[in-house]
Amino acid sequence: MLIVNDDHLCRAGVKSLDEPCPYCSKALAEYPLIMSDESEQTVYHAACALQIATEILVDCFTFFSPPAPYTRLFTLTASASPLNREGGGYALNGS
Ligand SMILES: [Zn+2]
Repeated sequence: MLIVNDDHLCRAGVKSLDEPCPYCSKALAEYPLIMSDESEQTVYHAACALQIATEILVDCFTFFSPPAPYTRLFTLTASASPLNREGGGYALNGS
């Protein structure tokens, strides 16, 4: 969630722009800021939120495409089986 003014900041549970960013520990200082969608509301600098998102994407890429000699843990494939109520036409295969 984007935070662009004092009202948004207050509703995110942050008392002032002097509070530190939990990622870089520097004062939040100025808008825009980003609040995470986690169960605990956390407010970051926009650049720090982008850095966190990038790190997650890089980790996910390595997970789905591990370097040699490791093999993929699983692969998502379209199933030829008929549609079912729970998974539609797609299923996880153990290959
Ligand atoms: Zn930060």
